[in-house]
Amino acid sequence: MENSNDAQLTRIVIVGGGFGGIEVAKHLNVSGLDVLMLDKHNYHTFQPLLYQVATGGLEADSIAFPLRKIFDGQKNFRFRIAEVTRINPERNSLDTTIGEVEYDYLVIATGSTTNFFGNKQIEHYSMPMKSIPEALNLRSMLLQNLEEALLQPTKEAREPYLNFVVVGGGPTGVELSGAIAELRNHILCKDYPELKREEMQVYIVEGLPKVLQVMSPQSADKAREFLEKLGVNVLTNTMVKEYDGKEITFGDGKKIRTHNVIWSAGVMGQVIDGLPKENIVKGNRIQTDEINRVAGFNNIFAIGDVAAIITGETPKGHPGVAPVAIQQGKHLAKNILRLLHNERPEPFKYFDKGSMATIGRNKAVVDIGKIHFQGFFAWLTWMFVHLISLISFRNKVVVFINWVGSYFTYNGGARLIIRKFAREKIVNEEHLPKASD
Ligand SMILES: Cc1cc2nc3c(=O)[nH]c(=O)nc-3n(C[C@H](O)[C@H](O)[C@H](O)COP(=O)(O)OP(=O)(O)OC[C@H]3O[C@@H](n4cnc5c(N)ncnc54)[C@H](O)[C@@H]3O)c2cc1C
Repeated sequence: MENSNDAQLTRIVIVGGGFGGIEVAKHLNVSGLDVLMLDKHNYHTFQPLLYQVATGGLEADSIAFPLRKIFDGQKNFRFRIAEVTRINPERNSLDTTIGEVEYDYLVIATGSTTNFFGNKQIEHYSMPMKSIPEALNLRSMLLQNLEEALLQPTKEAREPYLNFVVVGGGPTGVELSGAIAELRNHILCKDYPELKREEMQVYIVEGLPKVLQVMSPQSADKAREFLEKLGVNVLTNTMVKEYDGKEITFGDGKKIRTHNVIWSAGVMGQVIDGLPKENIVKGNRIQTDEINRVAGFNNIFAIGDVAAIITGETPKGHPGVAPVAIQQGKHLAKNILRLLHNERPEPFKYFDKGSMATIGRNKAVVDIGKIHFQGFFAWLTWMFVHLISLISFRNKVVVFINWVGSYFTYNGGARLIIRKFAREKIVNEEHLPKASD
C-alpha cells in the first residue's frame, strides 16, 4: 500500500499531474498535509505544442517536464507512477496499478482523451494527438509515408501516401494542418526533392460552417484565409462518414484516398470507474458544484477538463482549456485549506484571458474579450504566451532557440523516425467493429 505512515497527517491524493493537478499540489505546501500525486507518466505534458512534436519542429523533451522536479523541495509532496483504475468512495480508497491507495481528500484531475464518438473503425485507422507517445507515432507515420511515397512508381500510387487529412476545425486541427502545410511548402523540396510539392495535399475537414467556430467571426474568417494561403484545402460543412485506412468517405459521398487521417474532432473526459452514473454528464465529464466538489461526496473533487461545474452561467461547464484547469487547481487548494479550518469555501469564478491559434509562421488569430487581432502581431503574442507558459526555464530556452532557428532557416527540427509506427494488425478485417455496431 502506498499510504503515509504518519496518522496525524491529512492525506490528499491527486490523480493526474496535468495543468490542474500541479496547481493543487503546489498550493497545498503546508504542514499537516501528506500530498500524494499519482500519474500514468512521470512527466507533465504541455499539450498546446504537441502538434510541433508531431510535425518534427520540436523534440518531445522540450514540451515535457519531470513531475518530481517540479516539486523539488516541497517536503509534504510524494509522487508515484500509477494508473488509477477504480475509485472506491465507500472505503475512501483507489485501486491502482501499484496497489490500493487510501485518501482523506481526493482530487480527480485526469484531463480528457480523444472522442471518436463510438466509431471503432475510425478509432482504429486514424491518428489521435493527445499525448507525447501519440504525437511521436504521428511524426513517425507522417515521415514513413513520405518515404513510402518515394518508392511508388506512379502518381496514382503515391497519392494516398501524400494526402493528409486533418479532421476537426478547432484550434488543434487548424494548427496541425497549418504545420503540415508548412512542412510541405518548405521541407519537402529539401528532404525529398524527388517528390513534387503539388502532389502532397493537406485537407482540414469540419462539420460546422467555419473552422475555429469557437472564436470570434473575424478570427474564424481570417484563420480560413490564412490556411488557404498556405495551400490547405478547407472543407467545411463536411462530415466524415467512414475511413478504412485507405479511403476517407464524407457525408456527401465524396472520397479521398489517404493513409494519413488525423482525428482532432472531439474530446471527452477521462473518467475513472467507481463514481455513480448520475455524476457523469455530457462530454463524459464529472459534474461538480461551484467548489469543484462531486455531488454526494464531501471529500471528492474534480477539476480541469474532466470536470463540469454546471450552473445557469455555465450550462455546459467551462471550456476544456489550460487556464480553466490552472485556475480551478489553485482555487481548489485554497478551498481545501478553508474546509480543513472549518471555514466557508468560496465558489470558483473563471477569469477568461482570451483564446488564440497560430496558422503557420507569421500568422495567428487572437481574441481577448472584445479585442480581436490577426496576423504578425497576433503570432508574436501567441509565441510569447506559449513560451512563458512552458513549465521550466530549460524548456523555454530550448523551444525559443528552436523557433528562432526555424524562423531563419525554414528547416528546423530533426525529423527522426526513432521508432517505427505500425498499426496493430487486424486478423480478420470483417471483425473490425463498424460505427453502427
Ligand atoms: C493537442 C492539444 C492542444 C491544446 N492546445 C491548447 C491551447 O493552445 N491552449 C489551452 O488553453 N489549452 C489547450 N489544450 C487543452 C489543455 O491542454 C487542457 O485543457 C489541459 O491540459 C487540461 O488540464 P488537466 O489538468 O485537466 O488535464 P491534463 O493536463 O490532460 O492532465 C491529466 C493528467 O492525468 C493523467 N491521468 C489520466 N488518467 C489517469 C489515470 N487513470 N491514472 C493516473 N493518471 C491519469 C494523465 O497522464 C495526465 O498527466 C490543448 C489540448 C490538446 C490535446
